[in-house]
Amino acid sequence: MISNLEIPDPFQTFVAKKYANAKGYIYDFFTGEWSYKCLTCKEDMSAPSRKIMTKIRLYHTRNECTGGY
Ligand SMILES: [Zn+2]
Repeated sequence: MISNLEIPDPFQTFVAKKYANAKGYIYDFFTGEWSYKCLTCKEDMSAPSRKIMTKIRLYHTRNECTGGY
């Protein structure tokens, strides 16, 4: 079942990286940036790392659109 992983397919690796997140973060393989679209106000945000993306997202939801609460 997972024997295919022994030889990574470039495209599959790309897709895996691009969607390797659980919070709606998208990794842009070409620019090396993370992006995130606020589910509440649909605003697009981007950051150079996933860690910073989380900080930006939390700041945004707490202080800007309040995340719908
Ligand atoms: Zn928002």
